[in-house]
Amino acid sequence: MIADSVPEAYRTQAAVEIDKVYKSFGLVDVLLGVSMTVREGEVACLIGPSGSGKSTLLRCVNHLEKIDAGRISVHGKLVGYREKNHRLHEMHDRDVATQRRSIGMVFQRFNLFPHKTALENIIEAPIQVLGKSKDVALAEAREHLERVGLSDKAGNYPSQLSGGQQQRVAIARALAMQPALMLFDEPTSALDPELVGDVLAVMRTLAESGMTMIVVTHEMGFARDVGDTVAFMDGGVIVEHGDARQVIADPQHARTQAFLAKVR
Ligand code: ADP
Ligand code: MG
Repeated sequence: MIADSVPEAYRTQAAVEIDKVYKSFGLVDVLLGVSMTVREGEVACLIGPSGSGKSTLLRCVNHLEKIDAGRISVHGKLVGYREKNHRLHEMHDRDVATQRRSIGMVFQRFNLFPHKTALENIIEAPIQVLGKSKDVALAEAREHLERVGLSDKAGNYPSQLSGGQQQRVAIARALAMQPALMLFDEPTSALDPELVGDVLAVMRTLAESGMTMIVVTHEMGFARDVGDTVAFMDGGVIVEHGDARQVIADPQHARTQAFLAKVR
């Protein structure tokens, strides 16, 4: 682990700091020294070919994967570790769970509880985890459903919703935990093309509300228009990272150029 500390002023500005992160699965080296800072309120898009390590990096940010070296901080707090006497110690599972609560994650597959309605899916964690009363949780859940444009679907089961609607419920469910950071891993990749727009519109509104977001996406239009920054990953490293419009419109590295030429 790298033990040098980050200056205080920097710490208060950055929502997420990823510093020289390494991660392997057995003999497969997946992250090879990834560093990246996400400012408060920034929409950071991660693009890159399949297998480049994007999902792994995202999963490291909320400690679904343990990093082998480097460090990750969210809002100035180390993810998964505690620093004591200049050494890093693994956090207890309970503390990891507490930390993870402030980080919302939306996956490619929506993972809603199939036997619960949209509304019941959303109130589950606020009641069980945050200890909210059912009345408060229900009132807030209705607001979140409205925010994602699904006020009229509160009583529907996932099987009675389109993929795009399910994904919007999944976003509402994440928002109900009042996260300070949202991670999206290809949220529209599993959707029929005609359903993608509604989900991206919800994400755009969320971005405009000031939410800090890291978004793994193949939607280059979204990355260009909604993203503040774009990082292009290839082979476990960030090859190019900069202003979203600049990276998409005028990539500097040959690998970024080749990738963008293929996905456009
Ligand atoms: P991306 O999201 O960019 O497609 P991933 O982060 O999913 O890339 O995967 C990067 C590499 O890590 C791939 O070679 C993948 O097979 C490997 N990998 C990811 N998760 C695991 C795991 N749990 N065990 C073993 N290998 C994994
Ligand atoms: Mg992935």
